[in-house]
Amino acid sequence: MYNTIIVPIDLSHEERASHMLEAAKRLGGSSAKVYVLNVFDDVPGYVAAELPADIIENSKSASMQRLAAIVAESGVNAEAVIRTGQPARGILDLAEDVKADLIVIASHKPGFQDYLLGSTASRVVRHATCPVFVIR
Ligand code: ADP
Repeated sequence: MYNTIIVPIDLSHEERASHMLEAAKRLGGSSAKVYVLNVFDDVPGYVAAELPADIIENSKSASMQRLAAIVAESGVNAEAVIRTGQPARGILDLAEDVKADLIVIASHKPGFQDYLLGSTASRVVRHATCPVFVIR
């Protein structure tokens, strides 16, 4: 059984989220601490400067609400977390910060079955210091 599990979810492709949370529940049992993470891609400063002041904060808060809804729908006891930056870096950094002993990640976008691993999944598999469970 694993104690601290991260389930990273790409909110533009969340089709496998419930499957990933179910896997985390089976691998961690009822006592594991589960973090459901979305990494919000950083907007370059020169782009942010042209956007209305609250648009980025509003998008982050919409992402947080969607993540919380996914957790509630799954029935899994998990904490929703939003980080900003490059997705693989954000996943690996949270894993270090909370001393995760497992990451449950989807292999790639739905419909890309011919690819072994998507770019984020492959970076996480290569650089994580804990086991990574890949959902295909
Ligand atoms: P593809 O290259 O086909 O889009 P990715 O490797 O980017 O595939 O995505 C595979 C999985 O990586 C996603 O289903 C999700 O688990 C994780 N992931 C990708 N982007 C993010 C993100 N921004 N935040 C959290 N997890 C992500």
